[in-house]
Amino acid sequence: MSDLLSLIDKLERTHSLTLAEYEALLTQRGEGPASALRERAVRVRKAVYGSTVFTRGLIEISSWCKNDCLYCGIRHSNQKAQRYRLSPSDILACCREGWELGFRTFVLQGGEDPWFTDEVLCPLLEQIKAEFPHCAVTLSLGERSRESYQRLFDAGADRYLLRHETADKAHYEQLHPAGMSWDHRMECLRTLKEIGYQVGCGFMVGSPGQTEKELAKDLKFVETFRPAMCGIGPFIPHKDTPFGSQPGGSVELSCYLLSILRLIQPNLLLPATTALGTLDPLGREKGIQAGANVVMPNLSPVSVRKKYMLYDNKICTGEESAQCRGCLAARMSSIGYELVSDRGDPREIEN
Ligand code: SAH
Repeated sequence: MSDLLSLIDKLERTHSLTLAEYEALLTQRGEGPASALRERAVRVRKAVYGSTVFTRGLIEISSWCKNDCLYCGIRHSNQKAQRYRLSPSDILACCREGWELGFRTFVLQGGEDPWFTDEVLCPLLEQIKAEFPHCAVTLSLGERSRESYQRLFDAGADRYLLRHETADKAHYEQLHPAGMSWDHRMECLRTLKEIGYQVGCGFMVGSPGQTEKELAKDLKFVETFRPAMCGIGPFIPHKDTPFGSQPGGSVELSCYLLSILRLIQPNLLLPATTALGTLDPLGREKGIQAGANVVMPNLSPVSVRKKYMLYDNKICTGEESAQCRGCLAARMSSIGYELVSDRGDPREIEN
């Protein structure tokens, strides 16, 4: 315990540990170190962001996907998955509703659906930015070419979320079919950053084959890559995937990692994810209390929500957008935090 406390001190002071130290922090964790980490993470998040929680309206634009990630419910070979895609006018309608509700960031996420070419997306982005010039638009549409990322950026996209999923190549290959490449995904992340996007990476906690060794690499990767945002959440099995009978990840470890990430990079945008809320009714509150500062309520039309089933029992698939936002605002205020209407850019600070 005293060893871990000195590691936590070092992390808070230098924002960096060695791989072996990250691994020790994970393998030797217990309630003592967890509460020390939580306390410091919250102190650091309050120094940078106060008690505000940023919010992003998540619009799930398509459940079609050409990829076959072994963990994901909308993978190409899941013949039971229900497929839909929103039209550009559906998406604009979601943005209008979101604007009225106070959202100033829209996240367009979907499977890798070839229907969403640059020719479809660029005019849509231009329209969103023309109608809502003070809003940020985030894309989360998987791997694309440098040219495409550049065109989407030029058309107005501000941010891109592309979880790296795991910083260990061999582990990546356990989670994905042959033909999907860890090198390419990492290359995409570097490209996005070079183009000028605010980039989000991230990983699942408790994915099959993951040990503290892989997680230590994820932490080191975040430390060196310095993303604007890092999305993490527990792996949750989906019954119609090859990992359907694997155990899910843990809320406790996810929160512990959130606290570590906050100390690695004090201004990091860290969402308390829907997956956390799915495994534990108070999961998102626990995430915020561990150092997270973002929530992403669902803005998709209710008619499609049950079709964007990345994992079993996903929450927030029945309520209207206004209810989702209201519910999260109430949850945040119940723990002394405040949902704000703001683009929610990362605060510039000296590390
Ligand atoms: N097609 C986009 C968006 C993927 S969905 C892309 O490739 O980036 C967003 C994230 O959901 C994924 O990056 C993955 O980390 C997470 N996810 C997928 N299946 C999951 C599962 N079964 N449990 C928990 N998270 C999952």
